[in-house]
Amino acid sequence: MTLEEYGALSTEELSARIRRAKDEKRAVILGHNYQVPEVQVLADYLGDSLRLAQLATETDAELIVLCGVWFMAESAKILNPDRRVIIPSKDAGCPMADMATAEGVVRLKEQHPGVPVVSYVNTSAEVKAVSDVCCTSANAVRIVEAVEGDTVIFVPDKNLGAYAASKTGKNVILWKGHCYVHNMFVPEDVELARGEHPGVPVVVHPESPPDVVARAEFAASTGGMMKLAEEHDELIVGTEIGLIERMNREFPEKRFYPLSAFAVCRNMKMTDLPRLAWALEHEEYEVTVPEDIRQGAERALARMLELS
Ligand code: SF4
Repeated sequence: MTLEEYGALSTEELSARIRRAKDEKRAVILGHNYQVPEVQVLADYLGDSLRLAQLATETDAELIVLCGVWFMAESAKILNPDRRVIIPSKDAGCPMADMATAEGVVRLKEQHPGVPVVSYVNTSAEVKAVSDVCCTSANAVRIVEAVEGDTVIFVPDKNLGAYAASKTGKNVILWKGHCYVHNMFVPEDVELARGEHPGVPVVVHPESPPDVVARAEFAASTGGMMKLAEEHDELIVGTEIGLIERMNREFPEKRFYPLSAFAVCRNMKMTDLPRLAWALEHEEYEVTVPEDIRQGAERALARMLELS
């Protein structure tokens, strides 16, 4: 069957095929919090990048299906070289990850000899391989704090790097990358949301610009936002809307308001049920990483997991 033919199947038929193929192949489906709701409900585990990386080291499944963007599937493969890892949409890249190259990072290291490189997991395996340690939005502050010295090179998100600098007091040399979804938030979004929902606390993702983070009560990864959703009856949420769909499903009695209804990551939405069913039944698209690069990237990821 072609992918187009899968697209003509009903949601029930696709869900049944996915469950059947998952059992037959001893597969686990790991889904990021920004996935479309139909994929979220079929995932065995949902989480942020840190949780997905941890889950990838804990699973004994024979096949890992990563519903997210490319660097997440690559990280799962780096941590599980002996398991097959597939991603349903091979075009689901992360534009922020594409803003950094290994050659550029090496040049920056040469300009700042001895300064450790902390790379966000939103990077290619090649960039991870030339980094000292990785981080996620959940542990960036802890990792920047933990690496030796007062100066750190941070790649590629300038906003998350600036946030880590503000929390640690370290001198952080920033790569000038950004996430197009979070970087579009402006302080007026916070003021407007507060006007519409007086008294409701605001949480934003630390990939947001510093003047937006400064106006919010909380800055948190999507995993941290889920914890806040447990603790509050209402929340204004500044991140990709997929997370708000998860919050509404898991806490139907509570109220969550998007900071912007336009905060949609097109790349995360490339995975849908027809693609997931097709990918599982055909075991495509397989993720591979050259062994020399994998080993370097694994060292940086393992160091992050040790420090987390
Ligand atoms: S939300 Fe931003 S950082 Fe996450 S995958 Fe999309 S572009 Fe990349």
